[in-house]
Amino acid sequence: MKRLLVLSGKGGTGKTTVSSSFIEFAQARAIADCDVDAPNLHLITKMEVKPEVSDFMGAEKAVINPEKCIGCGQCAEYCRFGAVKSCGEVYQIQDYACEGCGICEYVCPQSAVIMKDDVAGRQELYKGETVFSTAALKMGRGNSGKLVTAVKLAMLKAAPETELAVVDGSPGIGCPVIASMSGMDLVLIVAEPSVSGKNDLERLIKTAESFQMKMGVCVNKWNTSPEKTEEIEEWCNVQGIPFMGKIPYDKEVLKAVNAGKSVAGVDCPARTALLQIYQNVRNELKYNKNKKEIIVMKIVVAAMGKEVAGHFGHCENFIFFETEENKIVAENSVPNPGHRPGFLPNFLADHGAEVIISGGMGGGAVDIFNERGVEVIVGAQGDAAAAVEAYLKGELISTGSICHEHEHAHECGEH
Ligand code: SF4
Ligand code: SF4
Repeated sequence: MKRLLVLSGKGGTGKTTVSSSFIEFAQARAIADCDVDAPNLHLITKMEVKPEVSDFMGAEKAVINPEKCIGCGQCAEYCRFGAVKSCGEVYQIQDYACEGCGICEYVCPQSAVIMKDDVAGRQELYKGETVFSTAALKMGRGNSGKLVTAVKLAMLKAAPETELAVVDGSPGIGCPVIASMSGMDLVLIVAEPSVSGKNDLERLIKTAESFQMKMGVCVNKWNTSPEKTEEIEEWCNVQGIPFMGKIPYDKEVLKAVNAGKSVAGVDCPARTALLQIYQNVRNELKYNKNKKEIIVMKIVVAAMGKEVAGHFGHCENFIFFETEENKIVAENSVPNPGHRPGFLPNFLADHGAEVIISGGMGGGAVDIFNERGVEVIVGAQGDAAAAVEAYLKGELISTGSICHEHEHAHECGEH
């Protein structure tokens, strides 16, 4: 699974228009909205399943017990954030202004102040055929970077098998943007063809560069300023940042956005441009930062939980390991769907297996894997991930031992 992050230097540049179109073009089944201050991707994804909802706990906030408060005002005097206000004869905390420093608790002579965990936001995870992770931060709450990380991890943990995960990021260069970058394969920056748009783009690129992110740039509403668009394109070329394309101003985009639809479903010039940019992005995702093709491989281990199974057909589960440049980048365990003659090898090959690792395997299954061009490694044991790592280092050699006994052959799914 490749992970694409869509960002912009400021709000309103068309970032979500690009993200939502890419989601439809790719039929992406792993989606996240990391714009936790102003999430809006849900308006287009329109998930039909009910979400799993959880509270996001932020920093502690102060709370005054009015029963104990004698109205001495010391808490207000010492609070450097102006978060304590008098309310009749007692004092109250304005929770949006409280920074949780705890001074008011320390100075209160009546022990009327207590520090309490604060619900800083709400996280939602939709788990249908598509996994969609999103969240909204409450007014004045910090920790947006922490929440972005939680949103992204929730998506990755629940993501089904899919070629592309699309993450709609936050605008700007703040904490949530930085948090959204880790683990992404490519950052696509949507820029606006204006003086401030170019300035925002440069700031964002500088930020992404400091995290060694691979990037691409596209310009939205390019025909509102062809000169600035050309300037941005030339600047990207000089910087060695791939320019992915430009989207024209198109009234159909506005209509689609107002109808809560993705532009991918509307026949218009903006869609044509977006599709071209999408194809350029997909192509770019095949290469690493040094322009070398990324070697990806899908390795499956027949397993008992997390351990390599002794017998292929009777394993509990199959763990699909995705590897890139000889490193494991993702893993996904699926239960054994049950062995029937010739079924499992074809099932795994159909799901993209290029290598199968097992303890033992029947000769019939080996033959089918060979016919399907899947490399068979038998004789493995121990931790499944460790076996894959050993294979990637060239240290896991197949013993080639095939189960020939009738009962073994049956166990191994040979027939
Ligand atoms: S310091 Fe304590 S008692 Fe005094 S106003 Fe504040 S909460 Fe009330
Ligand atoms: S915890 Fe700190 S910021 Fe919050 S009300 Fe008390 S003194 Fe002010």
